[in-house]
Order: sequence, then structure tokens, then C-alpha cells
Amino acid sequence: MSANMVYKFATPYDPKATVLYVNIVPRYFCTNSCRFCSRKDAIQGRPNIYEKKAGTNLWLPKAPMFEDVVRELEVRRTVETTEIAFVGLGEPLLQFELVRNIITRIGTDGFHGKVRIDTNGLVKCWRKNDPAQELQKAGLDEIRISVNAVGSDEYTSISRPKQRDAFEKLCEFVRDCIKNGIDTYLSFVVGFDDGEVKTRTAEEYQKFARILGVQEKNVIIRQYVPPLEQNLRS
Ligand code: SF4
Repeated sequence: MSANMVYKFATPYDPKATVLYVNIVPRYFCTNSCRFCSRKDAIQGRPNIYEKKAGTNLWLPKAPMFEDVVRELEVRRTVETTEIAFVGLGEPLLQFELVRNIITRIGTDGFHGKVRIDTNGLVKCWRKNDPAQELQKAGLDEIRISVNAVGSDEYTSISRPKQRDAFEKLCEFVRDCIKNGIDTYLSFVVGFDDGEVKTRTAEEYQKFARILGVQEKNVIIRQYVPPLEQNLRS
């Protein structure tokens, strides 16, 4: 399990692979089913852009144990590690307590770099009170929230959430993260059109981010990438 639980890879922007990625999502699980999500390709055995980058598939048959993740982080962390990022295929904050407890442990282990989570931002659908505050207290520095819409109906149509009031809860969580002093980024996919649903322009998303209180420098615009053709698992 460990090869795809904590991993890193070099990129032109990060040639020394200073970011350590933590994958704790079992079975690529997410409460959304975004039209452009490459998770369904990965489930069907087709490679996914993230798995391609990671050089490994990210399938975990079950959620890992706290001790196993901590041990893997100890093994793979080096003096060059500047950031630890919880990412998926799927939604990491469905394992809220596991993520929070690992972040706390990272701090007590003396890691002084950045700690980040990439999320669908729907944690308030399953976690009461103020999850942003809990994460900030644990030591979270940065959060990247996938938004991909500017209104509730549009969100339902693009991201197909399982929960009611998902978009409202997402917007609430964005505001909570800002209020709690977490460096908050919003991400939006552009360039997707399946004939039924079309994403908006970067300018429209920037405008909506401003309404939520997020500055332009914290808006991530991602170009839609169609599925890769080669089979990573073969
Ligand atoms: S929120 Fe992310 S992981 Fe979940 S379905 Fe959408 S794109 Fe996929």
C-alpha cells in the first residue's frame, strides 16, 4: 500500500520534488461525480493525469491507519521537503479525523514547512461546527478548494453532488477558511463542454471568487485535460 500512500515527483517547477503528497482516500471515493473528473477513467483502468504524474496508481482498497501514514511520512520526508499536501483521487476530507490527526502529528514531529489540503470543499455536509477552525488549529496552512461553478444549479449540473445544499455549504466553508486565517485558493476548470454542460470563462470565475472574498492571485484556473490513452496499470 505504501508506494501510493505517500509519494513525490519532480516537475519543471519543482525539480527537487520538494512536495510530499499524501493519499489517504480509499477506492478514489468522492461524494461528487464531476462531469470532467478523471476518477471514473482510473476506476475503469485507464490512466489518470495525477497517477501519470505520480508514476503509480493511487488506488487504496481501504483507508490507511494513522500509524502507517505517519511511518511513511517519516521514511519519505527529507531535508528538502518544503510542503506536505493531502490530495486525492477522491475527497481527502471524508477521512476528516485521520487528516486532522496526521496534520497535528506533522507539527509535533517538528515539520516547519507548508501543510496543504486539496478538497471539494463539501466537508460541512458531513462535519458539524467549524471544520476549518479544527484544521487551522491542527496546523493547516493552505487549502485549495474546487468550485467550478458560480451558482447552486450550475454546481449541481457540473459536479452532481450527493448532498443537498452542497454549493451553499461549499461557499460557507470557503468563508470559514478565510476567517480562520488559512491561505485559501479556489480552483475552476475551464475548456470543458460535453454538449450538455459547458464551463465558464476564467474571467467569470475570477469575478465569483472576488464575491467569496478570494483575491485573483489565489484563483487557480485549470484547463480541462481529456483522459490519457495509455493504461498505467497494464
Ligand atoms: S470533486 Fe474532484 S474528485 Fe470529486 S468528482 Fe469532482 S473532480 Fe472528481
